[in-house]
Amino acid sequence: MLQPVELYNALGKAEQNNFFMTLQKVYDQLPETTCSGCATCCNWGSPPAFFIEYLNMYKFLRDQRKDHWQEILGKATEYFYLELVDTGQKCPFLNENKSCSIYEVRPFTCRSYGLLSKKDFETGDRGLQGMARKFWDEYQIKIPDELINSELSWCDKVSFGKDKYLEKTTLAGLAAQIGKLDCTFFPQDLVDKEGTLLPYPVHLMNTVLGSGARARKLKVMKEFSDCGTKELLKPFVEKACAFQF
Ligand code: SF4
Ligand code: SF4
Repeated sequence: MLQPVELYNALGKAEQNNFFMTLQKVYDQLPETTCSGCATCCNWGSPPAFFIEYLNMYKFLRDQRKDHWQEILGKATEYFYLELVDTGQKCPFLNENKSCSIYEVRPFTCRSYGLLSKKDFETGDRGLQGMARKFWDEYQIKIPDELINSELSWCDKVSFGKDKYLEKTTLAGLAAQIGKLDCTFFPQDLVDKEGTLLPYPVHLMNTVLGSGARARKLKVMKEFSDCGTKELLKPFVEKACAFQF
């Protein structure tokens, strides 16, 4: 992922080419939803977002959430390092009053939650079994059973002024329009091989902490998984909190 200087080039390119307007037009094709606001879905974790959505979110944080930078960066750092080993992690953008601090720029994944029928939502592998095996085999890091066996449930409390759920293909088509914008920032083979969908805190930490963040992540995860402590995490939280957007 891009480092800060390149990030600003990417922001300039997105603005010059009206990509944020294109993104908003895709969002506008989703129906407005209402729900009971229990925040169960946000407690489950931070969902994946395209790179162009991250740029949109970064711009919003920079321009409209200056008073919350430290708090958000601290929570996002913890989430980035511990999401797979600490059962207490939740989306770092969730406020104490159960609202989303970046609601205006929340990603497509959050906007489209609740728009599929139960049957469509529950189709496919949504668990962490495969990833848990990989982390144990390669790094001897134990992902807690509570996380392995947890799945984001379908929510029946979302209303959106239509009597029919959206088709999976409709949502996939809209997501593909956003994905196309990402292809203007990265080589096609990188997009095909690795994808550009990452949770916002992961995009953000790749910018804030640089390219070694992923390698250091395994050490911090292992410390927490083996001892339940966060000593190795402290300097990364301090560094992240000093970041200037
Ligand atoms: S979509 Fe459902 S789970 Fe999420 S906040 Fe609304 S009611 Fe709660
Ligand atoms: S970005 Fe906002 S809406 Fe999405 S999971 Fe986080 S707090 Fe919830």
